[in-house]
Amino acid sequence: MLKIYNTLTRSVEEFTPIHPPQVGMYSCGPTVYDYQHIGHMRRYVGDDILIRILQWNGFEVKHVMNITDVGHLTSDSDSGEDKMEKGAKKFGLSVWDIAQKFEKQFFDSTDALHIIRPNILMHATDYIDEQIELVEILEKKGFTYRLDDGVYFDTSKFSDYFKLSRQNPDELKKGARVEFIEGKKNPSDFALWKFSKPTEKRQMEWESPWGKGFPGWHIECSAMSMKELGETFDIHTGGIDHIAIHHTNEIAQAECATGKPFVKYWVHHNFLTVEGEKMSKSLGNIFTVQDVVEKGFDPMALRYLYLQTHYRQEMNFTWESLEAAQTAYKKLIREFKSWDKNGLPSQEYLEAFTNALNDDLNTPKALAVIWELVKAPIDSKIKAATLTDIDGVLGLGILEKELEEEKIEVPQEIMDLAKEREDFRKAGDFTASDEIRKKIFDLGFEIKDTKSGFEISKK
Ligand SMILES: [Zn+2]
Repeated sequence: MLKIYNTLTRSVEEFTPIHPPQVGMYSCGPTVYDYQHIGHMRRYVGDDILIRILQWNGFEVKHVMNITDVGHLTSDSDSGEDKMEKGAKKFGLSVWDIAQKFEKQFFDSTDALHIIRPNILMHATDYIDEQIELVEILEKKGFTYRLDDGVYFDTSKFSDYFKLSRQNPDELKKGARVEFIEGKKNPSDFALWKFSKPTEKRQMEWESPWGKGFPGWHIECSAMSMKELGETFDIHTGGIDHIAIHHTNEIAQAECATGKPFVKYWVHHNFLTVEGEKMSKSLGNIFTVQDVVEKGFDPMALRYLYLQTHYRQEMNFTWESLEAAQTAYKKLIREFKSWDKNGLPSQEYLEAFTNALNDDLNTPKALAVIWELVKAPIDSKIKAATLTDIDGVLGLGILEKELEEEKIEVPQEIMDLAKEREDFRKAGDFTASDEIRKKIFDLGFEIKDTKSGFEISKK
């Protein structure tokens, strides 16, 4: 039985979908105005693992993701610059081109990390009518008010407003981190529709019953998720930074419009820091998957590294830890290559693996099961079949790697030593052959005996 932590109840719950075996899942996708980095990717790998575990448990997942290609504002409080327009200026492109450029970079990254693409991808700009309709419903039901710069949601009219964030509204008022917008009734009120300023020419704007403008950020996710998954669906995911505002506002919009519960399980992924610091431009520590590849790493090493930390814990990325993950990953590939194939999997190890993942996606424990399997005193055929099944869930591409020749350059000196060693081995002089193995090892290479002779790899 799969158990998952639900942010709504702050507890690990048994997962029971509304219409089994179907599972409806919505993940907040990228805002395509700049590069998606390894912090973002950690989250999408986490979602990918969740989907694969659901499938492993026999569920059929309909995964919907949005692409925010319409400008939401750099500040959560509906003031500040428009992210898309800002990105366009920065890169000297139109907003439409910027959206295309960074959507491609997003999918290049997720593909490299073996993240299964969503079943349904929804661009916010394709669903402006649905967003306007939802605002109209909220307006009719009396949840909105109009200010000079837009239509706002009155959060005081929804008594469950703080149920996801569990924030104290009085504290929020005192803290007043929210920038002041004239006329806003409560600090937590947010824009549903923003008006274009008469003085500026926006690249993206639409006609609406309230005047020319553009949607607030939160409305797209409520409108698009319900369009594809219904008014109440199973899982909604995002980063923990989405809890207090974005997801809280999604719930308010959806539940006030329909009068029904919006989402059953809220799943949130924790952050990634780099060398103990928050990623930032000024520290120059924002890295993309493309940077990781340029530095000579296999994207699968990054995926392996992600899996070493539980999704609800903060993860500290270092280049040393990536190096170590790559070494472990390559070792696993070598082990797998050396095993005989065409056996049946071990039920015992598969069960241990499943139990680890069904326990709120405990990927570090699942990796530990793999290494226990590697060391287990069982037929290598069984190991190979078990690891093949496991990899279908972890998505580390182990099977594909077996077919891929390892492209390493072996110096002539090493090749000569290896041949010399092979001769000793054939002659039954294992002392001499072992000595040469050590010599090869000291020179930075490892030699492994296979049915067809030997294989050399980098240490
Ligand atoms: Zn969203």
